Amino acid sequence: MPHLAKNLSGTINHKIAQLADSQITTFNNETSKIPGIIKLTIGEPDANTPEHIKRAAIADIEKDDSHYAPEAGQPQLLTAISDYLNDSLGVDYDPAAEICVTVGATEALNVACMTLLNPGDKILVPTPVWGVYFGIIKMAGAIPVEVDTSQDDFLLTAAHLKKVLANEGKGAKAVILTDPSNPTGRVYSKQNLLELAQVITDNNLFAVTDEIYSELIYGDKKHYSLTQIIPERTLFLSGLSKSFAMTGWRIGYMAGPKELMKSVIKVNSFLITSVTDNVQAAATEALVHGAADYPVARATYGSRLKIIETGLRKCGFSMATPEGAFYIFAKIPAKFGQDDVKFAIDLANKAKVALMPGSYFGKGGQGYVRLSYAASAEDLQESIRRITDYVDSNL
Ligand code: PMP
Repeated sequence: MPHLAKNLSGTINHKIAQLADSQITTFNNETSKIPGIIKLTIGEPDANTPEHIKRAAIADIEKDDSHYAPEAGQPQLLTAISDYLNDSLGVDYDPAAEICVTVGATEALNVACMTLLNPGDKILVPTPVWGVYFGIIKMAGAIPVEVDTSQDDFLLTAAHLKKVLANEGKGAKAVILTDPSNPTGRVYSKQNLLELAQVITDNNLFAVTDEIYSELIYGDKKHYSLTQIIPERTLFLSGLSKSFAMTGWRIGYMAGPKELMKSVIKVNSFLITSVTDNVQAAATEALVHGAADYPVARATYGSRLKIIETGLRKCGFSMATPEGAFYIFAKIPAKFGQDDVKFAIDLANKAKVALMPGSYFGKGGQGYVRLSYAASAEDLQESIRRITDYVDSNL
């Protein structure tokens, strides 16, 4: 096994050397070692990819579709994405110039930051948020400015955005929105987005909008998008990981104004050349013939949400009503104090249920835990039993 030359030690890219390890990964690995633990820590659908999507990939491989795809993506998939965005949001993106296929929304986020941000640029990040954003922004040399939304039920308001832009966010170039949100499950209303769009425009910002959970919204709530209001300054990103249970396929996409997408496609091609052919064929099948898969996923997660939300509230947790994605961000009952890491570790060891400490998601998360209900109904019911026993025994 080779060891790094001593005189090369400490010489790698300092931005990378300074990146913190993911607390989420560390916590997940640590709690995995506890015998009998039920883990509600990770945002990974427990279902498998629908059969018709798998078949499309197999057929594509058998057709010898094994050559470099066009940089922005296969034309059939670009058209399917354009049609999907038109059907679901009523927005109009030209498949030939305004859409780019990526290796998951994660790569799309990297492309967005590399394309928009110079070293030292500020980007506003409403928190609590999926922590990976911070690493991606820092790798691009830019500065994430956290905007704690906990006082506004975990939604960024126009008034708050204005205030931040006049203070710590002064001179920011962009704002990133996650809608529906990981970790809070909160969903922006149309009015909320209209007001934000006005402030974004007044301050000449780019909006990066991560809508990977947009098909997973429950009850009467409807999904709206900044692309419907300010498409001229919005970089939209999404993917199929969550809605079609395709996390391991690594497939996502971006859409935006032609002038911007020219650079986006350039960056994407330098990073990955193009996305795997058979994965693109599977994604085309999902978007063209998968409309029936959404209601199945929605019904499953929606019913689980009800069970978990009711169970948690009964034993003293409170929360801003979760409406989408598959997460509940719950305030720990007051008698346990504010130390969410201590609470989550104790709960994991004693009750054998792993929930993610809220402070791992940035400012505003302290005193909370995130629970992912992308788990089986049995595991969820058993978890609620265990959490209830733990809370009751700590009277
Ligand atoms: N955005 C958010 C908000 C997420 O929660 C995740 C996955 N946890 C991603 C992006 C990444 O998705 P993908 O699998 O498409 O890279």
